[in-house]
Order: sequence, then C-alpha cells, then structure tokens
Amino acid sequence: MKSQTNSELFRRLPSVDEVLRSREIASLVSMEGPTAAADATRAVLGRLREELSAGRIDEASLELALAGIPQAVEQQLRKSLSYSLRSVINATGVILHTNLGRAPLASSVLAHMKEIAGYSNLEIDLTSGERGKRDIHVERLFRKLFEEHAGETPSQVQEQPPVLFTIVVNNNAAAVLLALNTLADGGEVIVSRGELVEIGGSFRIPEVMAKSGAVLHEVGTTNRTRVADYEQAINERTRMLLRVHRSNFQITGFTEQPVTGELARLARARHLPLVEDLGSGSLVDLRMFGIEGEPSVFDGLRAGADVVTYSGDKLLGGPQAGIITGRADLVARMRANSLFRALRADKLIYAALESTLLAYVKRDYEGVPALRMMALSKDDIRRRVEDLASLVQSPGIAIDLTDGESVVGGGAAPTAILPTRLLAITHETLSADELLARLRASNPPVVARVEDARVLLDLRTVFPEQDAALANILNFLAQQGSLS
Ligand SMILES: *Cc1c(COP(=O)(O)O)cnc(C)c1O
Repeated sequence: MKSQTNSELFRRLPSVDEVLRSREIASLVSMEGPTAAADATRAVLGRLREELSAGRIDEASLELALAGIPQAVEQQLRKSLSYSLRSVINATGVILHTNLGRAPLASSVLAHMKEIAGYSNLEIDLTSGERGKRDIHVERLFRKLFEEHAGETPSQVQEQPPVLFTIVVNNNAAAVLLALNTLADGGEVIVSRGELVEIGGSFRIPEVMAKSGAVLHEVGTTNRTRVADYEQAINERTRMLLRVHRSNFQITGFTEQPVTGELARLARARHLPLVEDLGSGSLVDLRMFGIEGEPSVFDGLRAGADVVTYSGDKLLGGPQAGIITGRADLVARMRANSLFRALRADKLIYAALESTLLAYVKRDYEGVPALRMMALSKDDIRRRVEDLASLVQSPGIAIDLTDGESVVGGGAAPTAILPTRLLAITHETLSADELLARLRASNPPVVARVEDARVLLDLRTVFPEQDAALANILNFLAQQGSLS
C-alpha cells in the first residue's frame, strides 16, 4: 500500500523539461544558459526523489516541495556557478600567510595586471618590431636597484662588484631547482646538515636536490658546521656550495655556522660557485621596521654569494615568483637551460612584478602592502581597534582589548616581534571555536585564531577599508545563538 502511494508521489514530480519551461525560471534560463539550468534542475529533482524514497516527504509536504522547485533551482545554480576562490579578511596578524595567498597586492599592481591581461609587448620589441624577451621588463628594474645599492654599500669580498643579472621563474622552489640543475647536474653540492630544511608546503632540500640531478654532500652536524667541514668535503666531483636560509625554525644554544663571507672566500679559492637560497629575500633593510636578523638580497650578494634565489610573494611583497640574481655568466647559463622554459612566469606575473619593483625604485614602500603592514605601529593599530570596538554594540559579544604580537610569516624573520593591539572576543552562547567557524562562514569570510578560549583579531593584516565590514559581521554574529 505504502509503495503504491510512493510511486504515485514520484509520478507527480515534474520532468527537467517541464521545470525549464516554467515561467518562474525563464529569466534564469536565459541569463545563465539552458545547460547550467538543466544541471541545477536535475540536482534538485534528484534530491526530491531521494527524500521521497527515504519517506521524508509525504503527500502533505509534497505540494510545498513542488512549489519550492524554482527557488531551489535558483539556489542550486547560484551555488554551482559561484567562485571557489574568494577574498577573505585576514585577521590572523600573519602578514605573509601562505594559506591566505602570501603577499597581498596593491591596487596599482592590479591595475597594471589588468592592462597587460589583453595583448601586450611581452615578447616584441616595439621599436624594431622584432622578437623580444619577456625578462627585460623586470630585469631593467632589478638592475637599477642593485646598481644603486652597490654604490651605497660596496662588496665585502670583491674589489670590483660583479655584473649582476636577474631572471624570474614560477616560484623559489623552481629557482633552486634551476640553479642546482644548471650548475651541478651530475656533480656534488655541499650543504650543512643544519640547513637541510623542509619549508611549508613540502619543499625539502634533499628532494629538490635529487630531482635536479645533483648529489647532496652533507657536512657538519645539525647544530654546528665550520668552514673546515666544507673545505674537507670538496673533491673533484664538487660543483657548488649551497646555503639555505632556515626560514621557519631556529637552532639556538651550542651552535656554529660560518658567515656567508667566510664561505664565499673558500668558494672563490676553489673556483666553485656559492649559491644562497634566501627564501624570503627582502629588497629593503628590514631594520627600518625594527626587524633584526633577516638578511636582505643585497646583504647576501654583498657578503659574496655568487647567486641568490628568493620568492616574489614573501618579503618582496609581490606576486608568486622565484627570482634568481647573481653573477651574469652563471645566471645566463640558467636562462639557457631548457628547464627555464618549463618554469617560466606568465605575463600577469611579469606585470605584477614590474609594478611592485617600480614602488621600490621610487622608494615608495607605502605602496607595497606587506611592507606597509610591517611598518604599522602599535598606536596606529590601537586607534583602529578602539574605533572598531565602539562600532560593536550588541551585548551578545564581549570585546576586550589586549596587547599581542603580529608575525611576518612566510618563513621570514621567525623571531621578529611586531607589537600589536588585539580584539579578544567572547560570545554569549557560542564557544570560541564555534565563533571562529561562524567568522569563516561570514561574507566575506574572516580568518582569525583562538587563544585562551577567546577569538583574537589582529587588525595589522586587515585593510583599513575592511574595518567597517568586520564590525558589521561582529554585530551580526552577536545576535546569533548557538542553536541557530
Ligand atoms: C619559502 C622558501 C622556499 C620556497 O619558496 P616558494 O616561492 O614558496 O617556492 C624555498 N627556500 C626557502 C629558504 C624558503 O623560505
């Protein structure tokens, strides 16, 4: 008896065609196209069929479900056509947050990317009409920065600073791979055991080394490596000395590590290139933001590294890219390697990098969002935190203001302390983890962290123009209970 009723109910479901022909969704079909609309309709009808077979819809509720079909189709269509990549508010206080896309780009950078997104002179010389190289658009700016800097602070190792050349690949992992493969394929590369690191997202020096065709020759111990260790390891198969920035961890206590200058002298005496993977690679002296112990790209080269590699989207504050700067003859060999073609960056990256580098050439550090965030003082942040707190008036949420620390992130300056003022939030009925999840589910999503059963929001990484939206979201959540 029951199954009969059930199959009768099934027969009352409309066909996909009937739904698509209905007046209620006609405009939806014409706007989003019949294919997407049909897919959405199939999904909605499929769900209804499941509900019917599970007995969750009976005769009485079927009418309601049928009447709701157009609306359900519209919702389904919206969901399936919406972007998966979304802009979020970063309230973590981690400036270079790899999971949130690392360095945020300036709107001037976006404007240049937009301009270049169509056709551009990427690889054509507009004067001669002949084929050009995509590198030149940024190489000229790197060259200018390095020349200016060399004039200000002469090299520690050479009398005559070497002619430098810079190339760009997809990311720093690719830059290290290209450097190793070009200079050391089939030979040995000497690396300190204290630098055999794994960088977030599975970049491991021994694995990259293996892929490059070079053979890793480890020297020293985890905590102590001396120049003599490198010296003793050099043999007829040695092709390169490699230094790797430890990035996201520190070795403290009984430690020893040669400075780059000492290694550079050894490398020079034995006619071997010294390559340094700087990781973050800043183009400014970070001491101007009170950040100690993070060598700049200039420091690495001045200390005598023949080649340095660094990321475009870490301290440089630009797009994802791997940048190789060094002795022109060595970098030219990397450029001629067929791997370079496989690892090359696209026009949008070149446009973003060119625009970011122009800010450096103009000494406009305010124009690089990551640097601007680093430069914010605790007072700057305190004022915004107080304004924001005053906008949240619902009693459902309690806000405390408290001192804390922001983080540079991206493996840079792991011990740097950036004092900040935090909003510490508790909710009347939601736990801190529930509140955190609600913040992520907001529009725009807000990413924050929990400490001591409170949600902490750090405005250092929130753009000032997002403060009001953040206040609105908090006011909205203040009115939500744990049961809703
Ligand atoms: C971040 C980092 C890398 C990887 O750089 P990507 O641009 O993410 O590929 C490599 N080496 C060091 C030392 C790093 O800090």
